[in-house]
Amino acid sequence: ERARARFVAANPASRAAHEEAARHLPGGNTRTTLFYTPFPLTMTRAVGSRLTDLDGHTYVDLLGDYTAGLYGHSNPMIRKAVEHALDGGWNLGAHGTDEARLAAVLCERVPSLELVRFTNSGTEANLLALATATTHTGRGTILVFTGAYHGSVLSFGDSGFPLNVPHRFVVAEYNDIAETAAVIDRHAGDLAAILVEPMLGSGGCLPADPAFLAYLRDRADETGALLVFDEVMTSRMAGGGMQELLGITPDMTTLGKYTGGGMSFGAFGGRADVMARYDPRRPGHVAHAGTFNNNVLSMAAGYVGLTELFPPSAARELFERGERLRADLNAIAAGRPMVWTGMGSMLTVHFGPGPVVSPRDLRPAPEDRELFHLEMLASGFHLARRGMIALSLEITDEDCAAFCDAVSGFLSHWNV
Ligand code: PLP
Repeated sequence: ERARARFVAANPASRAAHEEAARHLPGGNTRTTLFYTPFPLTMTRAVGSRLTDLDGHTYVDLLGDYTAGLYGHSNPMIRKAVEHALDGGWNLGAHGTDEARLAAVLCERVPSLELVRFTNSGTEANLLALATATTHTGRGTILVFTGAYHGSVLSFGDSGFPLNVPHRFVVAEYNDIAETAAVIDRHAGDLAAILVEPMLGSGGCLPADPAFLAYLRDRADETGALLVFDEVMTSRMAGGGMQELLGITPDMTTLGKYTGGGMSFGAFGGRADVMARYDPRRPGHVAHAGTFNNNVLSMAAGYVGLTELFPPSAARELFERGERLRADLNAIAAGRPMVWTGMGSMLTVHFGPGPVVSPRDLRPAPEDRELFHLEMLASGFHLARRGMIALSLEITDEDCAAFCDAVSGFLSHWNV
């Protein structure tokens, strides 16, 4: 209660903005994850790793727009690419040059990508990957996992009532080979796709056991289902995504978030024989339209981001920084009911005893989460309400050390 009262007192302008927004947006909100109580801060400016809110407070942005903000804010090279694209005109209603360049870089880097198509969001990329799988296999069942989030209409976690598209989904427990085996056995003849995040992102930054993913690869081969890796968040783990790190190649991959340079973006692609169905030169091809699929801003920003700012060496460095931060945070929390999970530059805090390796280990702990979130904001750190961090390239070791100090401070007076 005290932390909430302090937050309300410190943020009168954000409070007023929220009340005004709530007159025409349900709950003042058009993106559910951004909401938190008592009201979310309204940000007005962002440069590098820093965010400034309506009341004039500045925060270190540790959320990095849930991984979409990999390049930090207002990166000058991305800005130049966007300005250059604008100079040539937008919405050309025709092919441009950047889409082919971006496709070439992605196919070069990500092992499973032989051919790729662009969309406007990660949600759309996953919807199209599933449509591709059902069309390709002539089957209707999709295997997904507990805790998974594949987009606003493909959600299998426990955050709110899921508004899912009507596919024939079957759900197995993430990281549980025995239970997954039973589900696959029951549906083997009708399995079109196995859709999986190599690490649950929204579901709490829980990495897949490599043996679990290898098992899915084997069962996909055996049943004829397509294995689809949703790397919308995890592709940042290495130049070629988590599939490259693990040496497990899916049939299809979906991408999004930072891969469009911070503009609206999604992509789905994979095996040439599967994706060739979209080739309009082929009789009986599958149509995939979309007014903004090759919008010049995403194509230009995505290409410059990947080639100039995020070569594989930068991916390795960012991964290492995140690994160090997680190790430091877990050392600080040792002996207390706080556990930091994740991999590389993506982390989430959990309250309760560890270890936390599968969704069934998660404790909701809403009060601890809220208190931690409000205290981190009061200390000048912006992270997700659910305790997620996604480091951008602008976050320094000094920022990480300052955050560790703030977490130490929290633990020193946290009564559990
Ligand atoms: N897949 C994963 C793993 C995600 O985390 C998200 C978004 O958080 C999506 C798909 C959906 O992407 P978008 O928000 O661009 O629709």
